[in-house]
Amino acid sequence: MLGSGLIKGLAQTAKNFFGSYHDPARMVTVEYPEQKRVVPEASRTIPFLVYDGEDPELGLRCTACKICEVECPTQCIYIVKNTSKKPDHVGKMQFHPATFDIDISVCMGCGICAEVCPFDSIKMDQVFELSTADRFESLLLHKQQLAKPNSYFGKIHPTEAGEIDIRREQDKRKAEAKAKADAEAKARAAAEVQNAAANSAAPPPSPQTVTPA
Ligand code: SF4
Ligand code: SF4
Repeated sequence: MLGSGLIKGLAQTAKNFFGSYHDPARMVTVEYPEQKRVVPEASRTIPFLVYDGEDPELGLRCTACKICEVECPTQCIYIVKNTSKKPDHVGKMQFHPATFDIDISVCMGCGICAEVCPFDSIKMDQVFELSTADRFESLLLHKQQLAKPNSYFGKIHPTEAGEIDIRREQDKRKAEAKAKADAEAKARAAAEVQNAAANSAAPPPSPQTVTPA
């Protein structure tokens, strides 16, 4: 029948409207911005940089390898590598970024940067209130604005962050065990060299007197 779709739609709207007075499930709208929906764990908007500990500079996981910069389809990541190095979570010396900018006016939230990062450094945020009157400088986010603690990552993506924490802890333990084994092997080798030197410096044993029968 002509117009049956329209009638069905209006009936559904009326059902939700009157039903919402007694059934909260029919409240299909929220009073934004006073009320906000809890976003699903997998939702994503723009990237951010994860850091460990309290210091965003020292704890930044990024090693300035530039893989994300190369892979970003919109080329909105800009990285300048620092000349100095700092230890990562397993004690290995790594470079870090002097500059790390993302132009979020160009970023399309694809998440490719987060997928390709081998250091679990760049992850997708869930912030969405990013509107500004200045379309240039305010939408160019710098390292200081992008850096967020691992606890924040754990809050918005608990499943992924939990898995990464376990993996990083295992890597750390393995590195510590290896360092300990290396140190012990080195100490053993040094002791052997010392023993060999001591033996070669000792006087040769005197010939034994043979008593005639
Ligand atoms: S989310 Fe996509 S577009 Fe945005 S910075 Fe990452 S790779 Fe580039
Ligand atoms: S965020 Fe990851 S992929 Fe990008 S430069 Fe840093 S370590 Fe490399």
